[in-house]
Amino acid sequence: MTSFLDLPAGTGFGLRNLPYGVFSTDGEGARVGVRLGDTVVDLAALERHGLIAAPGGGRAPVFSHGSLNDFMALGADAWAAVRGRLQDLLRADGEDALRESAEIRAEALVPLAEVTMHLPAEIGDYTDFYSSRQHATNVGTMFRGPENALMPNWLHLPVGYHGRASSVVVSGTDVTRPSGQQKPDDDAPPVFGPSKLLDIELELGFFVGTGNDLGEPIPIEEAGRHIFGFVLVNDWSARDIQKWEYVPLGPFLGKSFATSISPWVVPYAALDPFRIAGEAQDASQGNPEPLGYLRQSEPRALDVSLAVGLETEAMRAAGRPPEVVSRSNAKYLYWSPEQQLAHHTVNGCNARPGDLMASGTISGEAKGSYGSLLELTWRGTEPLAVGGETRRFLEDGDRVVLTGQASRGDLTVGFGSVSGAIRPAVGA
Ligand code: CA
Repeated sequence: MTSFLDLPAGTGFGLRNLPYGVFSTDGEGARVGVRLGDTVVDLAALERHGLIAAPGGGRAPVFSHGSLNDFMALGADAWAAVRGRLQDLLRADGEDALRESAEIRAEALVPLAEVTMHLPAEIGDYTDFYSSRQHATNVGTMFRGPENALMPNWLHLPVGYHGRASSVVVSGTDVTRPSGQQKPDDDAPPVFGPSKLLDIELELGFFVGTGNDLGEPIPIEEAGRHIFGFVLVNDWSARDIQKWEYVPLGPFLGKSFATSISPWVVPYAALDPFRIAGEAQDASQGNPEPLGYLRQSEPRALDVSLAVGLETEAMRAAGRPPEVVSRSNAKYLYWSPEQQLAHHTVNGCNARPGDLMASGTISGEAKGSYGSLLELTWRGTEPLAVGGETRRFLEDGDRVVLTGQASRGDLTVGFGSVSGAIRPAVGA
């Protein structure tokens, strides 16, 4: 499938990706687009000219405002119809309504360099899981010892907690170092101040498309049809605040100050070629079989390469690019997005269009594949070398860039990146 547009060689943004995002330009406010190579295709313009219509959307415009929620709510059949229609309009040998109209092309094809990206959805609720076995094992080993690394529930259910939706920000937004209570000395009272142990978490998130009615769980075999698409997530974490506050109800202010996501939502269907088996959830690999509502036929895992880049202020001043400090992969997740959604709703909790659910930190088996500084520096005891300096945790001015892409044969599906730079704490 080739486009009539010239795409950069090896682009991860070809016709088999077509991620959705919300963008604005100097002349016009926020609306929905898809990325094709280094071009943003303005879906509001295509809708205005009658070239696309979302089935079930009625006559009201679906793409002309600054969130994907209306489109998400229309469901998997509507997403498939629009995706197919866009591929047809954008391919070299497809329908010529866009290709042959200079007027519509001028209006609807916007250079990527001219757009500002926004949050893709109004996020009503944000849930964060804890689905990487290696990450849970590493953290458990640090805090409880290797014998008790995994809690007894971990292999039976996707552990998660309710995060904070209001502080989810789009890539490029600076992050202010949080202040809060910490207890660095076990034998002294707590202190207040800027976090000294500011960390990242490399995660893959998904947006709920269609939700479920209160009291009506989403069955595992239908969960995929409720998932709209995927983004990269950096779930910033203040380890010192977290460590003192988290007993017994879990993460709170150590997490809720910011969560960054990439702007382009990769459609669920675009990842079909990259679904692989994942670790067996049965006795063949020494694991308990999940209860029925979590049992999923294979393939269950996503083969998506991920990387963590770090750039110090000095590197930025010298014009040097971020250095990769970790390479991981979403295939290391034990619990799949479908299992997470089935579990989340099994008690009747209602998910809604635009809800964001993140995987939890993704760590591979080797040290260079860990998804947090906590693990990469093993609680700060083994500092990382970055740009001629060392890091245990993040310093003011540091910028973190997470990237992701899936590749198989000559097909690459890119996620782009999510970045954020650390600003000094308020009053610091
Ligand atoms: Ca997290």
